[in-house]
Amino acid sequence: MSQSVRAACVVGWPVKHSRSPVIHGHWIKQYKLDAAYRREEIAPEAFAGFVEQLSARGYVGANITIPHKEAALAMSEPDGRARAVGAANTLWYDNGRLFSTNTDVEGFTANLDASVPGWEQRADEAVVLGAGGSARAVIYGLIERGVGKINVINRTPERAEALQARFGAAVHPVHASALPHVLARSGLLVNTTSLGMTGQPPLDIALDPLPRHAVVADLVYAPLHTLLLVAARNRGLATADGLGMLLHQAVRGFQLWFGIRPDVTDELRALVEDDLRKAQTSETDCVK
Ligand code: NAP
Repeated sequence: MSQSVRAACVVGWPVKHSRSPVIHGHWIKQYKLDAAYRREEIAPEAFAGFVEQLSARGYVGANITIPHKEAALAMSEPDGRARAVGAANTLWYDNGRLFSTNTDVEGFTANLDASVPGWEQRADEAVVLGAGGSARAVIYGLIERGVGKINVINRTPERAEALQARFGAAVHPVHASALPHVLARSGLLVNTTSLGMTGQPPLDIALDPLPRHAVVADLVYAPLHTLLLVAARNRGLATADGLGMLLHQAVRGFQLWFGIRPDVTDELRALVEDDLRKAQTSETDCVK
């Protein structure tokens, strides 16, 4: 590997499904940088050794994906977002120190900003479906942006309750039977479950109770046009899709490693959409 080229990578196990090389590769070309972005498939038992040698291997930083996000948090100096979410997906060096953040938080809110400007004015109260890793990023982002009441519904209710313990009084764990009731009061609905993903069962909920000004966001990006988003659009509701979040979450890492804040353009979106379409035939899981 040439040591003169600034390089970053995505570290995962497996990592071949990651879209990050397409996104960062596009920006490297667009900004004509002498830089590289690679995939690194690293088994869990080899992860600590890999990160200890990250700089020696010529990397200025990395994206971290499944199953290494918690280990990455423990091996770095996390910012408030990574600490609150309990997982790090982006590493970078500053003066020889290894820092981390979780860019899913800003990926989610920046995509909402781009898709539905002024969305916060509609969302005093929100409903979040799911209580996994991405729900933690979404909830932290909503709290950062001042959403006062976040109703969380999850198949395993204990995990929704744990989010209240983690994030405090803004989070309200709610039983699934109360969904119509809380939807009627909410200006934002977010699906953070894997339901609706290719190979998973569909997310089957009635959107009728949502007010007309409500926004519907889906984190699932394969397929891109999920049944939830199609149903929301058919009702005339504003939407934000999972691909937008995926693209926006990549911005900060690129800026930290290569010193340029890149734009999320229609051209990039079309490129990744095309890549997803090609992969769709054989893929049932999607990791960054
Ligand atoms: P996770 O930590 O594994 O959480 C999965 C969530 O889905 C849990 O709440 C789980 O409920 C729920 N779930 C799974 N199967 C279910 C079923 N059959 N019925 C009801 N609930 C079910 O996963 P994650 O990391 O949060 O990711 C979730 C989704 O978000 C994935 O589709 C992922 O690709 C997507 N995502 C997208 C982006 C983006 O940039 N667009 C970023 C992150 C994640 P239990 O707690 O009951 O198991």
